[in-house]
Amino acid sequence: MVNAPVAHPPAENPFDTAIAQLDAVAERIGLDPGMRDVLRHCKREFTVNFPVKMDDGSIRVFTGYRVHHNEARGPVKGGLRYSDHVSLDEVRALAMWMTWKCAVAGLPYGGAKGGVIVDPSALSAGELERMTRRFAAEIGLLIGPDEDVPAPDMGTDAQIMAWIMDTYSMMHGHSVPAVVTGKPVTIGGSSGRYEATGRGVMFVTQEACKYAGVPLEGATVAVQGFGNVGSVASKLLRDAGAKIVAVSNASGGIYDEAGMDIDALIAMPRDRASLRFDAPGRRITNAELLELPVDILVPAATEGQIHAANAGNIRAKMIIEAANGPTTADGDRILRERNIYVAPDIVANSGGVIVSYFEWVQDLQSFFWEEAEVNSRLERIIKRSFQEVAALQAKESISMREAAYVLAVTRVVEATTVRGIFP
Ligand code: GLU
Repeated sequence: MVNAPVAHPPAENPFDTAIAQLDAVAERIGLDPGMRDVLRHCKREFTVNFPVKMDDGSIRVFTGYRVHHNEARGPVKGGLRYSDHVSLDEVRALAMWMTWKCAVAGLPYGGAKGGVIVDPSALSAGELERMTRRFAAEIGLLIGPDEDVPAPDMGTDAQIMAWIMDTYSMMHGHSVPAVVTGKPVTIGGSSGRYEATGRGVMFVTQEACKYAGVPLEGATVAVQGFGNVGSVASKLLRDAGAKIVAVSNASGGIYDEAGMDIDALIAMPRDRASLRFDAPGRRITNAELLELPVDILVPAATEGQIHAANAGNIRAKMIIEAANGPTTADGDRILRERNIYVAPDIVANSGGVIVSYFEWVQDLQSFFWEEAEVNSRLERIIKRSFQEVAALQAKESISMREAAYVLAVTRVVEATTVRGIFP
């Protein structure tokens, strides 16, 4: 199942959000201006324009990107996004967020991201495969198990990772499973990877509920975005005792105070679900979903959804950022002033890359783990990371986002400092 994007573009340039977040933490920790400048830039920015033969015989040129933000802590890691809204600045922001996400979870990775400007649902299966293989060949200069390990993101899935793994392997004359994560299990994918981001969201919600004093049992939840992350998070939060009262996708949402039948929504054919949710409940817009009177709001779609114009209207007690960058810097300031508890994206959605790390380790060792082991290691790492952030938040009386950024940026600065500046 391809992850379902929310159609409308972000309210502000995501790279502006990312830079504002970095600048704020740089001020807070008194970061050396030269070091701040290093971190404000992405180390490598690769743009490719490449031709693909379409089914009707015509040639179409696609534009794609692969950006490495920082590799001080290890090989770079991050997803590939297929969406109409992909831009160099979006990919830069997402790459920078990967650097912080890996650092806060303690993974031995730097941050990267890539994408192609394309609506994958508008391509045939053959066109999608040819486009993916050509893009994989183009970024083959950068990727590799010791260099840069892509993974799924919005608009991409395990099948697309399989084509990338196969293309890279053909170019090298032997199978290289560790070049991507989020692959099908039959070719070296990890058990539990598909559910990992949503499962991590559930673990973080459990922790956040303890800290914020909101009981998860019976809590009402609205989930924006019903792709890989939103659908799995909905199911697992429901299983943990919460009541999912609203969900949405690119075409809008539904709200039912009685609680939604999540299994029926997941079982619904994607093409029908993408047109409208054929389920009981009141039809609402994505904007209305964010302002519902719920206990927990889970933005699980795209960047910039919570911003200066709507942050004042949010009625949730707690926001669990399952998406990357769902809140702009201005939106965040308003949430802070209003004392709304926010579990920031770089912690809340880190379950995906944590289990990607497990997949990479399993591939490198050719030794595979049971799903129960994957899930319990994920729980241990993501809860420990949350608790470290929460401890700093309490000690310094700052927000969870500020605390997560202080930890992440400090770790990257330490790695850069101890390695030194080449030459
Ligand atoms: N695309 C996911 C993210 O934004 C996963 C990245 C990965 O597993 O490398 O975190």
